[in-house]
Amino acid sequence: MPPYEIIEPVFQDYILGNAQLKQLATGFDWVEGPVWFGDAGCLLFSDIPNDTIHRWTPNAGLSTYRAPSHFANGHTRDRAGRLVSCEHGTRRVTRTEYDGTITVLADRYQGKRLNSPNDVVVKSDGSVWFTDPHYGIVSNYEGHQAEEELPCNVYRIDPITATIEAVLTDFDCPNGLAFSPDETVLYVADTGRKFDRPRTQHIRAFAVAPDGTLSGGAVFHKIAPGAADGFRVDTDGNLWSSAADGVHCLSPAGVPLGKILVPELVSNLCFGGRGKHVMFITATTSVYSIALIRAGV
Ligand code: MG
Repeated sequence: MPPYEIIEPVFQDYILGNAQLKQLATGFDWVEGPVWFGDAGCLLFSDIPNDTIHRWTPNAGLSTYRAPSHFANGHTRDRAGRLVSCEHGTRRVTRTEYDGTITVLADRYQGKRLNSPNDVVVKSDGSVWFTDPHYGIVSNYEGHQAEEELPCNVYRIDPITATIEAVLTDFDCPNGLAFSPDETVLYVADTGRKFDRPRTQHIRAFAVAPDGTLSGGAVFHKIAPGAADGFRVDTDGNLWSSAADGVHCLSPAGVPLGKILVPELVSNLCFGGRGKHVMFITATTSVYSIALIRAGV
């Protein structure tokens, strides 16, 4: 029996009755940051405590992409296809160029060191948006323990000037983030200070003006059990969020439609595969995949 929980009938149209949840690799400590490279036919993901970015391909399986990874966490690709990464250890956001060299996109704001960039998304105008909670510096588990120099903000890097602007400053600890398909909504998760404030563990939705200015920010949804860490949006604007019991699918109105049940606590996910119809899920010690009748943006 496929591992689904159907809440609204429409969810039946999103899933394949014979698709299995496959464990692709296991034995890690805390996996995060899945990102699909269709051109290379591979998935990259982070094992944060073990300071490694792994590569998985359907035929060759698992190999090391980068170690040490500077305790890399979330990844995405920019509009030119380059890897953009959040690094806890070096407290920065980087871009990996086609020749393999590393360009630092952000490591300070107003002269102070960032905390530990967590997750990142690139808008169609080339601007890079990332969250900067403190999880990578509160202990030595996922980085290097250190004092916070800045509040836990959401930042935007301008595509022309490369200047960094704090765009959201009222979060306890911002975490996953994603734009709606038309980029008129920005979703940002708050996972709370040291994960110990359930009151602030929710996803907020902001209206995005054509110039990138944000407004609103009402609570869009509160995931339970667990909390939303990373998430992705499909082509119809449904939001697929990490949760303690798997991946929850929410309509653009925030209505829970259904769940993919995963046997480990989920940190993040991405769409990949030939038609962006395969969901890759990072969940504590393992990476899973499942084919859907959905496509990621
Ligand atoms: Mg995260």
